Amino acid sequence: MKCWHCKTELIWGGDHDIEENEDYDIVTNLSCPNCHSYVEVYHPSEKLRKEEYIERETPEESYHKKLGEMIKKVKAETKWRDIFKIVEEAQKRLNEKEI
Ligand SMILES: [Zn+2]
Repeated sequence: MKCWHCKTELIWGGDHDIEENEDYDIVTNLSCPNCHSYVEVYHPSEKLRKEEYIERETPEESYHKKLGEMIKKVKAETKWRDIFKIVEEAQKRLNEKEI
């Protein structure tokens, strides 16, 4: 890894386990032999990686879930048989809700 400031290759100083922080579990420190910048790299813990994964998945998943529920509702209310019409109506209702 190169220094942010002067692009000199950094010197690895060591890895330390972090116990007091639940988002990060290892901190690696590096230093620049040229400009003496000091760099710490925090490694995300399993917990943080899982949370980020969930956050990334959620918006779309929840939309599909909501859409699925709305389709059922529209189907039950309207007794329509045309799935395209049902999906269209379900999407319309979801969009109206969002506004
Ligand atoms: Zn440097």
